[in-house]
Amino acid sequence: MKSAKSAELYDRASKVMVGGVSSPVRAFKAVGGTPRFISRGKKAHIWDEDGNRYIDYVCSWGALILGHADRRVLAYVSEKMRNGTSFGAPTREEVLLAEKIRGAFPSVDKVRFVNSGTEATMSAVRAARGYARRAKVVKFEGCYHGHADQFLTKAGSGMATFDLPASAGVTEGSVADTVTLPFNDLGAAEAEFRKEGDKIAAVIVEPVAGNMGVVPPAKGFLSLLRRECTKSGAVLIFDEVITGFRVGPGGAQKLYGVEPDLTTLGKIIGGGFPVGAYGGKREIMEMVSPEGPVYQAGTLSGNPVAMAAGLKTLELLTGGSYDRLERSSKTLEEGLESGASRAGTDIHLNRVGSMIGLFFATEPVRNYAEAKKADAGAYRRFFWSMLGSGVYLAPSAFEATFVSLAHDTGDIEATVESAARSFKELDRS
Ligand SMILES: *Cc1c(COP(=O)(O)O)cnc(C)c1O
Repeated sequence: MKSAKSAELYDRASKVMVGGVSSPVRAFKAVGGTPRFISRGKKAHIWDEDGNRYIDYVCSWGALILGHADRRVLAYVSEKMRNGTSFGAPTREEVLLAEKIRGAFPSVDKVRFVNSGTEATMSAVRAARGYARRAKVVKFEGCYHGHADQFLTKAGSGMATFDLPASAGVTEGSVADTVTLPFNDLGAAEAEFRKEGDKIAAVIVEPVAGNMGVVPPAKGFLSLLRRECTKSGAVLIFDEVITGFRVGPGGAQKLYGVEPDLTTLGKIIGGGFPVGAYGGKREIMEMVSPEGPVYQAGTLSGNPVAMAAGLKTLELLTGGSYDRLERSSKTLEEGLESGASRAGTDIHLNRVGSMIGLFFATEPVRNYAEAKKADAGAYRRFFWSMLGSGVYLAPSAFEATFVSLAHDTGDIEATVESAARSFKELDRS
């Protein structure tokens, strides 16, 4: 497989951009080698600068649930763009997208648009603290809530990929009010609330963890958090930046039947453009400026192009879309299982709808400590073997595999065949 053009660009990029990339995991440090520079995407496929075609399971980290360059989204967005790309004033598209979100998420009375998931979680916690008039925030190991200072302890995604327990540049003061507990540990959560429940402003959790591979919530975990937050007056925040409109139309909160006080969204609701949103109970959201004393603002927030892309994407997602995603994801899951089992490779798959976590592990993975025990070397070899046969997986074992509506039977079958061969190669190496 040729990679000279990607290599040349990476070389140039490394001289003028930090790590040659705009976000760390993209640099392939966890798997080694040269990152592929992507020139084009269509449906389930992407092409790199050297002309290699891949079946893409990163899907812009889950944002592209319809696949690449959906013609209906493109048509709508280009029509809107001709009317101007940013006004710094309210537009119709924001109202329509907000109504759409409210319609899908009964727990969301009011919403505020921002430009990224990072902004959404950071602002949601600020609103929660303003509302509860308390300081402490509880989060969970291996969950990722963007890169705001207060979340950068034992976090998922790139922090997990590079095994960073903390980030330089974050002061002790910034994380002094952050409490990090093991994910899915009901006892630890209960104990924390018993100890200092009256100091906790908010609990923030990925209801399905998608930044340490994929780890579904243990039975009773989310409802326990709901119960404890209600009892102590803390705000429960579900970070649904990945799961919102991914695991179903009403996100993980609908799937598991647990309602948070605040929800953060991103990725899918931007249809491939930079967007985030936070929303929830009226009395909490009305704390936010200009209705209340919690300040939060943004020059490009609610950008009409991004809003239009998100709006069209959500319009195209119907109940049937999720049935189709479930079927193709299940076929992929079963194909991976059987390929690994025929090759005698130990893997453990965690799947919630179209989010799949592939762990080279002998035991089930229920939290960050168990995710870290998986064989990173095996993932690296598997990644390269798959890439060589035209399948683009996340360049880190601590990320999810995302199936989109554009992955058709042929794509899934080709992926399963490549995987079967790659598992066999692993066995020999
Ligand atoms: C991606 C992600 C974020 C951060 O969103 P950005 O748009 O990358 O800032 C926050 N929370 C979760 C759960 C995410 O997956």
